[in-house]
Amino acid sequence: MIRSLARLVILGSMLLPAVASSAALEPLHSDGMPLPLPKPDPALMYPAEPVDIEIPLPRPDLATILPHATRTVTEMFLRQTGKLTSDEATYQLKSGEGLATLLRRAGFDRADAAAAIEAVIGRASLRSLPVGLEVRATRDGFAFTARNGRDVFAIRDPEEGWLAFTAIRPIERYLAYAQGVIEDSIYRAASASDIPDPALAEYIRVMGFSVDFQREIRGGDAFELLYEQQVDQITGEVVGTELHYAGLILSGKQLGYYRYDHDGSRVGWYDRTGNSAARTLIRTPISGARLSSSYGMRRHPVSGYNSMHRGVDFAAPTGTPIIAAGSGVVTEAGWYSSYGRYIRIRHNSTYDTAYAHMSRIARGVRAGARVEQGQVIGYVGSTGRSTGPHLHYEILVNNRKVNPLTVSLPTGERIPPELLGKFNAKVELVEAEMLATGNMRFAAMAPLPSGDGPQLAP
Ligand SMILES: [Zn+2]
Repeated sequence: MIRSLARLVILGSMLLPAVASSAALEPLHSDGMPLPLPKPDPALMYPAEPVDIEIPLPRPDLATILPHATRTVTEMFLRQTGKLTSDEATYQLKSGEGLATLLRRAGFDRADAAAAIEAVIGRASLRSLPVGLEVRATRDGFAFTARNGRDVFAIRDPEEGWLAFTAIRPIERYLAYAQGVIEDSIYRAASASDIPDPALAEYIRVMGFSVDFQREIRGGDAFELLYEQQVDQITGEVVGTELHYAGLILSGKQLGYYRYDHDGSRVGWYDRTGNSAARTLIRTPISGARLSSSYGMRRHPVSGYNSMHRGVDFAAPTGTPIIAAGSGVVTEAGWYSSYGRYIRIRHNSTYDTAYAHMSRIARGVRAGARVEQGQVIGYVGSTGRSTGPHLHYEILVNNRKVNPLTVSLPTGERIPPELLGKFNAKVELVEAEMLATGNMRFAAMAPLPSGDGPQLAP
């Protein structure tokens, strides 16, 4: 496709000198109608030597190549031929019926139906048309929507006979901005704001790395989002929804993430400084410690029985600081039978981490408190069923203990440096769109913590 376009461009530019030179022969002053230009000699349209130059062209946008679909076949017929035809009627493809039979039902004679189908072959897979397919037909043409979402039109041109072509459905993109205060549930608040389900689902997923919507939301927390809806201009149907910005004020703290499409293959979410919204949990939430017992079957050092060790042990001197493996909410902090002094943190609806045998729990770390990744939550000890100072550390996925050293965790990569320019442009665009709605943004409502972005990033 690209190659053939390149050739077209070359031929086009070859035509120009011929036209220009004939134009130069025109009189300088003319009061009458301009003389018709001589038609270029067709021979000049073809270079003597095949030209094979690679012209760097942007990838052609299908929307600029394919014609746009019209609402009706009648409109398309008028556009293509300048003539009027009969009003259209809609026919549904019946079980066991082919397009030819349907066209006969629509009043086409055998020869016309055959010629029309001959033209359509190659534009759509006629063997796999679904039962119930709606075919709109007039006496001079018909159209249906193929599986790829494009419309196939067939028109009986008075001069050229049956022509068939693929047309793109006119899709318009509408941006919408929504914000609101959360009283009890983000879902309730979102439905009150008419946020479409796909945008809300994406919002929850993106924010879910940093926020536990079940436990962390306090009355007065607020959300904002910018999303796009793609609307088919013919049917008025929403055919796509895309979230572009997700913002949240959580206990006075501001979070904001921007969508970034990596070559259309992967979508990433980043704060305005380029840190990923996706968080990884720290596999070793203690520094300078030695792995003294790994995950799996072992002979228990105290009971002497063989049992499953569903965590990892890091031996370290009493008093060595232990940090939160990820941001989240403390669900347990205190004595917990054989675990001794114990902390459990819920990071999101999927991940929890737990820390046992501490000598001391850090000040302010109690059930319900929010902790940030890297924050010191307690100190190594040997409380509970333990033979010496160590940290017993667990990662739980959906409440199931997994091997902290091997479990796959969401990555927390930054936006690559070479994409930072493009990303910043996207951030500016989104900011400008939100500003244009005239709403008071969070950026104006809550002062940012020191530094550029939210402080939750690792
Ligand atoms: Zn252990």
